[in-house]
Amino acid sequence: MKRGILNRYRDFLPVTANTPLITLGEGDTPLIRSLSLEKELGCGELYFKFEGCNPTGSFKDRGMVVAVAKAVENNSRSIICASTGNTSASAAAYGARFGLKTIVVIPQGKIAMGKLAQAVVYNAQIISIKGNFDQALQIVRSLTEKYPVTLVNSINPNRIEGQKTAAFEIIDELGNAPDYLFIPVGNAGNITAYWKGFVEYAQAGKASHSPKMIGFQAAGAAPIVQEKIIERPQTIATAIRIGNPASWQRAVAARDESEGIIDCVTDDEIISAYKLAATREGIFCEPASAASLAGLIKMAAKEDFSDKRIVCIFTGTGLKDPDIPAKFAKPPAELPADLATVEKALSGVIS
Ligand SMILES: *Cc1c(COP(=O)(O)O)cnc(C)c1O
Repeated sequence: MKRGILNRYRDFLPVTANTPLITLGEGDTPLIRSLSLEKELGCGELYFKFEGCNPTGSFKDRGMVVAVAKAVENNSRSIICASTGNTSASAAAYGARFGLKTIVVIPQGKIAMGKLAQAVVYNAQIISIKGNFDQALQIVRSLTEKYPVTLVNSINPNRIEGQKTAAFEIIDELGNAPDYLFIPVGNAGNITAYWKGFVEYAQAGKASHSPKMIGFQAAGAAPIVQEKIIERPQTIATAIRIGNPASWQRAVAARDESEGIIDCVTDDEIISAYKLAATREGIFCEPASAASLAGLIKMAAKEDFSDKRIVCIFTGTGLKDPDIPAKFAKPPAELPADLATVEKALSGVIS
């Protein structure tokens, strides 16, 4: 199989004879069948699509490779984005590889350490503002109106085009669409993209139906649920800490056209799901990603999914945010390098 989504899905993407089919190996992420939560939650079939396996560790790479390919095709020299972290990591990686200057505007103090490290090492020009993501996006939009620099946030339609390929992969692997898709919602580009992907693939005869789109925001950053802009969004899940989503209307359309739901989960529910994904399924995702599973747990308590096929999207890797575990787990005690002491510490654990 050819690597990269531009190669694999070019017939469904805005690829012309002049589009460079660039890739860092994005897409083709694992669709992992649940071994324990499926039974426990009473799902017919439960799968996790682990987008943390993309080159920079999040699904943003799918959209970024298309946005950067089009920027290169159009002779752009620089790209710019506002970011809660993963978009900047992705933009910086593809920008570095394909010779574009990358500018990222981030909310100060609200970026996971791993994501900032990526932007630094990929050598992006980083601007940290005393403000939130929504303000960063506002600034970036104004700059792109004034200067010849390509905007690579998800309001760039090429981002949505690339991200819809995750829906294609799910159908290609399962042979049909699932009944439900659970997904975190921040700026709402991803739920928009999946829905576009499912609809287009069904129209192309690759699936008999489309799934209900079930999106989850964090309770402290739930503008779509509350139907109002949240001025000061708060959540431990920094990737969905967004109070005024750029794709708000399109997310609502995806919800309504699919007869789905957009609801919210608390930070406690998110962290509990984050731990369950790791301890029960061996998947280390970032807190924002776990909002999808937290949402499934919440809904499965009330609804019967026993004859349903469900896919839960884990949007990014937990390695991005190494500070999170320290919030609930103590570091291991340090012992002398002595067999008897170690044996004693393990009494009851090994026998
Ligand atoms: C960007 C991001 C989200 C939110 O996606 P939107 O398209 O903004 O709704 C969720 N999880 C992770 C890990 C992200 O990087």
